Amino acid sequence: MAAETSMQTRREFLTACLRYPVAASLGAVAVLLAGRRGTGLPNNQTCRRHGICSGCGELDRCGLPQALSRKQAQRGK
Ligand code: SF4
Repeated sequence: MAAETSMQTRREFLTACLRYPVAASLGAVAVLLAGRRGTGLPNNQTCRRHGICSGCGELDRCGLPQALSRKQAQRGK
């Protein structure tokens, strides 16, 4: 009986040792994913279309110089 209690205690200890690092890891992943969404563009406003804004789906929310120039030119028309 004492061995069983000792085994449960060890199991609980190991579970507790794993629980918090796993929870912290999940929290870190959630923060990283939320941060990516919060920037407005994927990859922290890195242009993946080589600055060719025509037809880019990100143009409305893009703050890169090429996009700002294009939006300004469109407003001037
Ligand atoms: S809007 Fe222009 S600068 Fe912004 S991601 Fe698209 S192509 Fe790149």
